[in-house]
Amino acid sequence: MSTTSTRFVAAAKSNAERMFPALTAAQIARVAARGHVRQVQRGEILFDAGVATTGFFVVTGGQIEMVRLSAGAEELVQLFGRGQFTGEMNTLSGRPPLVRARMSESGEVIEMDREHLLALVQTDAEISEIVMRAFIVRRVELIAQGMGDAIVIGSAHCAGTLRAKEFLTRNAHPFTYIDLDRDADVQVVLDHFHVTIADVPIVVCRGELVLRNPSNRQIADCLGLNEAVDSSRVHDLIVVGAGPAGLAASVYAASEGLDVLVLEESSPGGQAGSSFKIENYLGFPTGISGQALAGRAFAQAQKFGAHILIARGAIRFGGERKPYAIEIGESAPVQARAIVVATGAEYRKPLLESLPRFEGIGVYYGATFVEAQLCVGEEVIVIGGGNSAGQAAVFLAQTAKCVYIFVRSDGLAQTMSRYLIRRIEEHPAIVLCTHTEITAVDGEAHLERVLSRNNETGQVANHNIRHVFVMAGATPATKWLGARVALDAKGFIKTGADLSQQELIDARWALSRAPFLLETSLPGVFAAGDVRAGNLKRVAAAVGEGSIAVSFVHRVLEE
Ligand SMILES: Cc1cc2nc3c(=O)[nH]c(=O)nc-3n(C[C@H](O)[C@H](O)[C@H](O)COP(=O)(O)OP(=O)(O)OC[C@H]3O[C@@H](n4cnc5c(N)ncnc54)[C@H](O)[C@@H]3O)c2cc1C
Repeated sequence: MSTTSTRFVAAAKSNAERMFPALTAAQIARVAARGHVRQVQRGEILFDAGVATTGFFVVTGGQIEMVRLSAGAEELVQLFGRGQFTGEMNTLSGRPPLVRARMSESGEVIEMDREHLLALVQTDAEISEIVMRAFIVRRVELIAQGMGDAIVIGSAHCAGTLRAKEFLTRNAHPFTYIDLDRDADVQVVLDHFHVTIADVPIVVCRGELVLRNPSNRQIADCLGLNEAVDSSRVHDLIVVGAGPAGLAASVYAASEGLDVLVLEESSPGGQAGSSFKIENYLGFPTGISGQALAGRAFAQAQKFGAHILIARGAIRFGGERKPYAIEIGESAPVQARAIVVATGAEYRKPLLESLPRFEGIGVYYGATFVEAQLCVGEEVIVIGGGNSAGQAAVFLAQTAKCVYIFVRSDGLAQTMSRYLIRRIEEHPAIVLCTHTEITAVDGEAHLERVLSRNNETGQVANHNIRHVFVMAGATPATKWLGARVALDAKGFIKTGADLSQQELIDARWALSRAPFLLETSLPGVFAAGDVRAGNLKRVAAAVGEGSIAVSFVHRVLEE
């Protein structure tokens, strides 16, 4: 073996205690009680990168080396000695490992499959804390080092590149990015994979499978982000949407013993996942990024055994009565006895013909680190007067030259929290433009110009600005439900006491009881979070509703 690097080992030194802890003799005995002890020889491969496995190994004798293939050479990632254990977040979710595990010294290991590992972390609080912390910190380090099994080749001027990068980032999947505009050796890379610039974005999975301009679903399938779905199985609960409301419902339902399937059209985290910093969520006095909050909730749902499908949205709601069926595309519909709809809302966009052409290449609907990096030192426009617009402006002003906030009204007082208004007023790089509407966007390969109009004076202005952040509210993602549940005038789902007698008659409500809190006009179908009429449009509200819905799911399942 040619060991070319041990950079993971070096980078991890400061974090070694948390990343590579050794279990005590008593803890090892508790693991052994659930796993099976195996003698292993030097050179034996315990699991391989990209090959589906469910193995978790604790070393009781000898040594395991973790290696990854990089540019044809083996790179040592980490060595594991007595008491130490293999794995990271993929082990918990059942996704293929990112590295190869091989015995570098003969010895003995305790082997445990995923099912038993889940049972262990759900029931042994002490071991759970050690294992979960190590798995999460290892994943964070893999991301920081770009030590994944995916390479994205693309350009900052290509909307598909931004989408692919965001998809991997929001799924916490480590990847390497090669920028066609900046990387001097790019032709060598293109030739190596037999692709051309016209194919971007290109995603290379495990150094061999080359995807040309893939959809998020193709990327997910190629990297093995989803397990196979058993469509004959009737789940206790299907949660549709993995934003804060859906993740909360999944965590509570799975932790309370329900068989839960979660469908997520894009990436876990929903709108909250695109928030740079959530400062008003209980328990985080210095704020937490939406991505971090979503990542933790996702890990928690997996720990309790929720089965989560990524890039697999609900396409159509079928079935007149229980079990309800949901179509998810190519495979057969999935079924459950109860449903929590947590599909949130989609961004509202100005009705400009050319706007979609620049989505991802100058027009954005979220302000995360990925977008912020694209406009360092440049002028940007944020459209909208709500809290999300305010947060985006404050965040972008850290790195942009100037942030213009466009609002149609005469100010922010009616729509934005006072603390954000104060920050905006005090920030020297933020300019509030009242009575201002965007009327056109223009450019060639990237957004270059924005036209605006003052709705009081009629004055038109031309801005040579390359980045516009549209943060102008959202419409509910309820189209897939058809007319199956009662909606309000704006398309949000009506629930509980908000449903009128007439709406229940129209929906042919057949039960002697009234709908439960958060229950829609269809028995056993609940709505939680932003998608629900009357919801507060806050992370805490979504999380609260997701968890409350589960308490009523139990009652429905008993009926
Ligand atoms: C930039 C930004 C910053 C914000 N900052 C804050 C803040 O600081 N504090 C705060 O309290 N709130 C904040 N909010 C609001 C908060 O994020 C939302 O209220 C919250 O995310 C709502 O959660 P949800 O789960 O109901 O919906 P969403 O977060 O919208 O999640 C819905 C999920 O459902 C998925 N989905 C949609 N359709 C389907 C389908 N057919 N099948 C499967 N999945 C589907 C979506 O992909 C998405 O992941 C912010 C919002 C934004 C956009």
